[in-house]
Formats: sequence, C-alpha cells, structure tokens
Amino acid sequence: MRRKLAAGNWKMNGLRAARAELDTLEQRHGDAGVDILICPPATLISACEDTPFDIGGQDCHAAVSGAHTGDISAEMLADAGASYVLTGHSERRTDHGETDAMVAAKSQAAYDAGLIAVICIGETLDERENGKTLDVIDAQLAGSIPDSADEENTVIAYEPVWAIGTGKVPTLDQIGEVHAHIRKCLTERFSDGDGMRILYGGSVKGSNAPDIFGVPEVDGALVGGASLKAADFSPIITALENS
Ligand code: PEP
Repeated sequence: MRRKLAAGNWKMNGLRAARAELDTLEQRHGDAGVDILICPPATLISACEDTPFDIGGQDCHAAVSGAHTGDISAEMLADAGASYVLTGHSERRTDHGETDAMVAAKSQAAYDAGLIAVICIGETLDERENGKTLDVIDAQLAGSIPDSADEENTVIAYEPVWAIGTGKVPTLDQIGEVHAHIRKCLTERFSDGDGMRILYGGSVKGSNAPDIFGVPEVDGALVGGASLKAADFSPIITALENS
C-alpha cells in the first residue's frame, strides 16, 4: 500500500515570516492521513524542523563536501532537519544544465545521506507536440534513477515542463497514460517498483486536485505556487485525503 504524499515546493520564495504558514497548516492537517512534505528554501529548513511535516531540500550537490561554493550537500540537508530532497526539477535541468547523469548522482548522494529523493521528470511542450513524451520519460527514468533506488528511498514526480507554473494542466487521460507508463517502467526495472510513489506536478490547485487524484497511479502531488499559502495548499491536502 503506497502512502499518499502532498509535497510543496516553495522554490526561491519565503523569508522567516513564511514559517507562520506552517502553523496554519498544522492546525488543519497536523494529524493528516497522508504524508505532507514541505521543501522551503534551504535558509528555512532549520526553522521548519519543529513541524509535524516532513521537510525537504530543493536540490543537493552530488559530493559530500568540498570546494563547491554556494552548493549544499545532502548530508548538510539531513543535518539541518530534512528527510527528503528534490532532484532533477525542470528548473534545475533548465537553469543549471543538469543532465540525467547529474540527477542520478545527486539522488545517490541523497540515499547515502539517508534522504528520500523525489526525482523529477517530464517532457517539454515541443516534445509532447512531436509525440516524444514517452520516449523522453523512458530516457529520464533510465538515466536519472540510480540502480540502488527502492520504494523507501525514492519518489518519482511526473511534471510536464509546460504545465509548471503556467496554469496549463494535461488532460486526465494524458496524466493517466504517463503515470501508467512510469509504473510499468518501475516494475520492470525494480523488484519493488510497485511500491514507489509517483506524484503528478504542474499547476495543481484545490479546484483540479480531486480529479487528478482520481487518476490511477497518481499517489499525490508536487505543488509549487499553490503550496506557498496554507489557504491554497490545504484544499489540495484535503482532496488527497479524500481520494
Ligand atoms: C513545481 O514547481 O514543481 C510545480 C509543479 O509548480 P506549480 O505547481 O506552480 O506548477
């Protein structure tokens, strides 16, 4: 039985005052029947530690330590109170040139530090319009997931690049097709692939969450903009609890 997961990615948003959003969220979902993960900016990880929610980083370096100015290792995230880390988010792949091999190395570093990696994959609009979606997914799954992945240390987030922060959402059939394909790939490659959670991400809101959570093989969501305010994230969590 896969535990459902509502994950919030705050991206480069949030000063210390944003911590108050988690107090509101705790009042409403302190004993939620689903897992709740918040990935704040690294500067807020320690401040978020005393919540009932899981806390995650948004990226980590592949090395444990060293001369990498400005970077943060998985071990440092764990030391600050994180239990998860996002790897391969499309904004990292695009803005920082991260390749599948780099994402796999970062994910392995996450495992080594005892973190759960939320490995993000997804096609661009151009790739979808040219009928390459499943090929892109295949390549990213093959290249970004380490061989040592298992149901305990890995969550996959399917995030079509064209749906992130745009308000555009794939049809439920499109989401279902890709999630079913990911599940097939995971079960073919990993003995416990059926236990790995697969999240959908891309313009999830309270209004579309109930339908998205009704799609087979959708085990939760990775949410950007709508995770910043408790008032927006709360209906998504409720929809997941009711799904
Ligand atoms: C994301 O950043 O992973 C994301 C899905 O963003 P949004 O929900 O804003 O589309």
